[in-house]
Amino acid sequence: MSEKFVLATHNPGKLKEMSDILARFGVEVVSPGDLGITVDVEETGTTFAENAMLKAKAICAAAKLPAIADDSGLCVDALNGGPGVYSARYGGEGLDDKGRYTLLLNNMRGQTTRAAHFTCSIACAFPNGDTLTAEGRCDGSIAFAPMGKGGFGYDPVFFVPEKAKTFGQLTAEEKSTISHRGKALKSFAEKLETYLGK
Ligand code: IMP
Repeated sequence: MSEKFVLATHNPGKLKEMSDILARFGVEVVSPGDLGITVDVEETGTTFAENAMLKAKAICAAAKLPAIADDSGLCVDALNGGPGVYSARYGGEGLDDKGRYTLLLNNMRGQTTRAAHFTCSIACAFPNGDTLTAEGRCDGSIAFAPMGKGGFGYDPVFFVPEKAKTFGQLTAEEKSTISHRGKALKSFAEKLETYLGK
């Protein structure tokens, strides 16, 4: 019999990525919507790990099923780690992805220190109170101009030295082998495998 986990996201891309990875443990991933649940969790944490756990625990309590959540963002050294946990809200509600990365490029004008990294935290909460966490990080730098049309968010301005390309210039497969999310998912899958004793 397959075990059911809820993934705290409305993003079909994330649901598919997680379903593919967890299918090999006989784990079925469903969305809160599939269960008729709507839980609006405020991301009040100061770290990615805190926000991921807030979401996982809230969905777990509502669904009475194990729940997985993630939180991710871009941390820029010259901006004291910003936009960080505010990556999705950088510049306020009115901006889209392009508006946010354009604002970032403007705020980085004249900066020679361009080191940055993406972080992804994954949290899983079980109805018995157990929790699992995993984290992935990808180091790179902020480009001087957007390059590439792939991906989403800050991908066109995040330059990865080992590929000599931005995330926006990589295929989805190329990106997932080196990305913060790909690494966090791999680490999470290993921890879940140990936890489930499989
Ligand atoms: P969330 O984890 O879905 O809340 O994403 C937080 C925000 O961080 C997104 O809205 C993006 O702006 C940014 N972000 C997270 N991961 C990536 C990525 O892989 N590429 C580009 N932007 C990302």
